[in-house]
Amino acid sequence: MDNLIKSVAITGGTHGNELTGVHLIKHWQSNIDKVERPSFSTELHIANPKANKAVRRYIDQDLNRQFSLEDLNNAELTGCEQQQAKLLNTLLGPKDDPRVDFIIDLHTTTANMGMSLIFNSSDPLVVGMAFYIKQKMPHATLFFEPSERLENNFLTSVGRLSGFLIEVGPIAQGLLNYQVYAETQEAVMHALDYLEMKNTGQPVALPAQMPGYQFTKKVSLPVDENGGISAMVHPNLQNQDYQAIHPGDPLFITLAGETIVYDGDSTVYGAFINEAAYYDQKVGLSFMEEMTIDLDMNA
Ligand SMILES: [Zn+2]
Repeated sequence: MDNLIKSVAITGGTHGNELTGVHLIKHWQSNIDKVERPSFSTELHIANPKANKAVRRYIDQDLNRQFSLEDLNNAELTGCEQQQAKLLNTLLGPKDDPRVDFIIDLHTTTANMGMSLIFNSSDPLVVGMAFYIKQKMPHATLFFEPSERLENNFLTSVGRLSGFLIEVGPIAQGLLNYQVYAETQEAVMHALDYLEMKNTGQPVALPAQMPGYQFTKKVSLPVDENGGISAMVHPNLQNQDYQAIHPGDPLFITLAGETIVYDGDSTVYGAFINEAAYYDQKVGLSFMEEMTIDLDMNA
């Protein structure tokens, strides 16, 4: 009913080797005025301090896959990140009746994805935030990955409104790069300004539609008979995130130099191409579909 946002959490270091978010959180902790807005409270959290200390994505499990309601309620899940997810759920949620209205989670990628705004909800307030940031930062890409909030396993899904991921690349793991840092900071400022305007009833002029992409599936790296990686991303595809991949286009190249092509029958678009963090699951890229995103998908 009440669509006012009273409480916002900004989280960084959900993946411990993505230092941009960690250092932005630290910076804002000593400059809280930058993230405060009159109509709501803002809190700051480094989501996975143990992994951050180790400069690793995670210790036992990927933290950003541990937040489904079922897993949060499963007492048998006791790995490092599974416990950390339960702690964050206590702190920000609980997921089935959250204290925090909106979570903005800061990520980086080794893929050439620029400023990507990832959201799982079709709530017009969430979609509007993506539209507003893209208006201010036209090079940003809208990345829609629809899922039910209680089933979703991202940290952002613990908030009442199934928040928002800001994913910026390319940057290596464990590295800071001022351009990435500054861009991420700018996107967060726009996000907070947007919520302030919506909360206080100021008009926000947004288009009814904007172009974007919808996640369809992850594509595995080719493996040999022992399960080892036997091919890598093809040089023609490297850094070509959000570009069209047509049937017959090169996807991978084997260790011996043989090209493996895309054998689908429709044009797709790549994202997270050669993402370093996905090698543990032997994933080479994600496939996306181009789509027109409606501000109000239920209209
Ligand atoms: Zn991440």
